[in-house]
Amino acid sequence: MCCLKCDTFPLKIEATEVENEEQEDNKEFILNMLQRVDYEALKGAAKDLSIEGLPDILPENVGENEAAMKSLHKLLLELQVKNGDLVCTNPQCGRRYPIKDRIPNMVLRDDEVMELKK
Ligand SMILES: [Zn+2]
Repeated sequence: MCCLKCDTFPLKIEATEVENEEQEDNKEFILNMLQRVDYEALKGAAKDLSIEGLPDILPENVGENEAAMKSLHKLLLELQVKNGDLVCTNPQCGRRYPIKDRIPNMVLRDDEVMELKK
């Protein structure tokens, strides 16, 4: 997700409440996600949520890398941000998008939309 005001990507996650739901291993899902998301952004999200163990560079055979898969499993399947904010890291902007009951509110206010149209 990127900032709707300034396109900064990725947004930083500031979680005030996270939920951990245990999920069965799903290697296929994780490998599929890895092809669709930006690994740098994933690493950022892992850092924001204090999940350790993601290699600096995505290993080619990540499916065989138990430690990496374990971290990815937690990040992509188990951990849910229940409440918090997604924060734009552009100092000129700093827009916060609140997350409530797991749903991020990515809608701009009317005055912000007007400003963008100028
Ligand atoms: Zn922004």
